[in-house]
Amino acid sequence: MTSKMPMPGELDPIETASRDEISALQIERLKWSLRHTYDNVEPYRKKCLEKGVHPDDLTCLADLAKFPFMTKMDLRDNYPFGLFAVPRTKLARLHASSGTTGKSVVVGYTKNDIDNWANVVARSIRAAGGRAGDMVHVAYGYGMFTGGLGAHYGVERLGCTAVPMSGGQTEKQVQQIMDFKPEIIMVTPSYSLVIAEEFERLGIKPEEISLKVGIFGAEPWGEGMRGEIERKLGIDAIDIYGLTEVMGPGVACECIETKDGPVIWEDHFYPEIINPETGEVVADGEEGELVFTSLTKEAFPVIRYRTRDLTRLLPPTSRSFRRIGKITGRSDDMLIVRGVNVFPTQIEEQILRDQRLAGTYQILLTRDGHLDNVEIRCELQHALSGKLPASDIQAISKELQHRIKTIVGISTRITVMEHDSIPRTLTGKAKRVLDERPKQN
Ligand code: ADP
Repeated sequence: MTSKMPMPGELDPIETASRDEISALQIERLKWSLRHTYDNVEPYRKKCLEKGVHPDDLTCLADLAKFPFMTKMDLRDNYPFGLFAVPRTKLARLHASSGTTGKSVVVGYTKNDIDNWANVVARSIRAAGGRAGDMVHVAYGYGMFTGGLGAHYGVERLGCTAVPMSGGQTEKQVQQIMDFKPEIIMVTPSYSLVIAEEFERLGIKPEEISLKVGIFGAEPWGEGMRGEIERKLGIDAIDIYGLTEVMGPGVACECIETKDGPVIWEDHFYPEIINPETGEVVADGEEGELVFTSLTKEAFPVIRYRTRDLTRLLPPTSRSFRRIGKITGRSDDMLIVRGVNVFPTQIEEQILRDQRLAGTYQILLTRDGHLDNVEIRCELQHALSGKLPASDIQAISKELQHRIKTIVGISTRITVMEHDSIPRTLTGKAKRVLDERPKQN
C-alpha cells in the first residue's frame, strides 16, 4: 500500500484530519495488514492459531489487543528471512539493526515500503522545519544501519539536497559544514556533541555555523541534552524516533513549533502501550512499553511488535496524530543498582543541570562483595578544562553526587575529568554504561 505524497513542503492532509477519519483509515489498513501477515507469515499464523484468533475477529481498533505479540526473539528465531511476507525476489533492500542489544536482526523492504519510508522521513524533516531546497548533512551511519539511507531517501523526497557524509571523520564533517553551509543536520545526539566539540576546538562560534535545525534520534536523550546541543550548535534540536524492526528512523518525529515529543505517523504505524509484565494495554498517558503494528508494510509487516522502549502516549497537539513522551530508555537499558532501578538518561539529566559539565559521560558499575559500586565519569566543558582549581572540581562532584542521591536515589562516586577524556563513539550510538559486575546465575 502506498500513500500519495503531497507536493514537497506541504502537509499531508491526513496530518490534520479528524480523529474519526484517522481511525477509519487505521481500521481499514489494520485489517489488510493482519490478513496479509496471517496469510503470508507462517510463524505468526501459528501464534494466532495457538491463541484461537483469526483476522476476521478484528472489527474495531480495540480488538487488536486479542492478537499475539511479536518480539525480538521471533526475529532471531526466524533469522534471516523467516518472517518476510513476500518472496525474496520482491525485496528491494535489506537492512539490519545495529545490534545494540545482541545479535542483529534482518529486515526487508519492497519498493513500496521504501517509498512509504521516504514519505514518512520527508514528513518528519518537514515537521522539524525543513523545506524543499534546504541542504541536509546526514551524519548517521550509511550501510546496514537504517539511519543513513533512511534519512537520505527522505531528504531527497522532500526536495532537499542530501550530503551523504555518514559517521566518523569528525574534522571533515566540520570542514564540510563550514564549506557547504547546510541548514539541517541529521545525526545521533551523542555524535552531534562530538561535532560541536570540534567546532569549539577550532574556535568557531555557534552563530558562525550555518545549521538551523538538528534532527536527532537512534538513542535516548533528555531535555538537558537538548539544551546542551542547542546552545553549542545554535540550532533547534528535534527528536526523531524509529527502530529497524518497525521501519527505521521516521516512525515518529517532533514538530519544531511545539517540541513536545515525537508525533507518531499513525497512518502507517499503530501504537499501543502495554504493561510490560502483564501484556495488558494501558490507557493513553500511562507509562509502559511501546508496541507497534505496521499498517502498510508489505515485505516485513509487524503485528504488535514489542519495542521494549518505555514511554507514554500523549494527545495530539500540532498534528492530529498522538505523540510519544521522551523515551525513558529500553527495558534492557535499565540498571538495577542495589535494588534501585536506574536509567542512564536519569543520570544524564542530573549531570547536565550543571552547565560547567559537558554532555559526554560514562557509568561504571563494579561489585565489591555483595555491594554494587557506581562511578559516574563526566567531563568539564571545553572552555573550563584545565582552568578550574581543585576546590571547584570538588564542589562540582559533591553537588552532582547529592543531586543523584536525592533525585535518582543511588549513592555514586563522581569523577570529574578534563575535557575529551572519555572515548567518543564516532559512528553510531554512544556506549554509556560499562557494567563490570560479575554475571549472576
Ligand atoms: P538496535 O536495536 O540495534 O539499537 P536500531 O538502530 O533499530 O537498532 O535502534 C532502535 C532503538 O533505538 C529504538 O528501539 C530505541 O530504543 C532507540 N531510539 C531510536 N530513536 C530514539 C529516540 N528518538 N529517543 C530514544 N531512543 C531512540
